[in-house]
Amino acid sequence: MYGIIIIERERNKERLVMSMMNKTLVLDMDGTFVDLYGVDGWLEDLRNENPRPYIVAKPLYDMDTFCAVLGLLRAQGWRIAITTWLAKESTKEYDEIVRKAKREWLAKRNVPFDEIHLVKYGTTKANCTRKLGGYQVLADDNAEIRKGWHLGNTINANENLIEKLVDLLLTE
Ligand SMILES: [Mg+2]
Repeated sequence: MYGIIIIERERNKERLVMSMMNKTLVLDMDGTFVDLYGVDGWLEDLRNENPRPYIVAKPLYDMDTFCAVLGLLRAQGWRIAITTWLAKESTKEYDEIVRKAKREWLAKRNVPFDEIHLVKYGTTKANCTRKLGGYQVLADDNAEIRKGWHLGNTINANENLIEKLVDLLLTE
C-alpha cells in the first residue's frame, strides 16, 4: 500500500519537473509536414534552382488540426522551433528565394512557431537550438538527422506526426 503511494508521488514529481522544464519541439518541414517530395518533378526543379516545389507543396496533414496541436503544445510550455535545410548544392541567390518561399508557405497556413532556422543543407540541426538548453524533441523524417540528435527525444515523422504530438501533450 505505502509502496503504491510512494510510486504515485514519484510519478507526480516527475510530471511536475517535466512541466517546469524548458521544452522545445524542433520541427523539420520537407517530408515532415510539407509534402515537397510529392511534387511532380521536385528534384529537377531544385537542381534548376526553381522554387516552384516549395511554393506548391501540399501539407501532409489537415493544417487546422496540426496548428491547433502546436498551439496546445505552446500553451503547455513548449517552445516551437522550425529547423529546416535549404536545397542541396545551391547558390546564395537560390537560398534566399527558398527561404522566402518556406516562410510564405508557413505564413499562408498560420503555422505557429517561436523561432525558425532556414539553414544550409547538411547543417547539424542541434547547433541551431543547443543554446536554448532544456529538453528538446526533434520531429524529422530523415533517419540520419534523428540519429545525430542528442538534445532529447526524436519523433519519426514518417509515422503519424499528429498522433505523436498528441502523445507529447498527454505524457508531459
Ligand atoms: Mg525532411
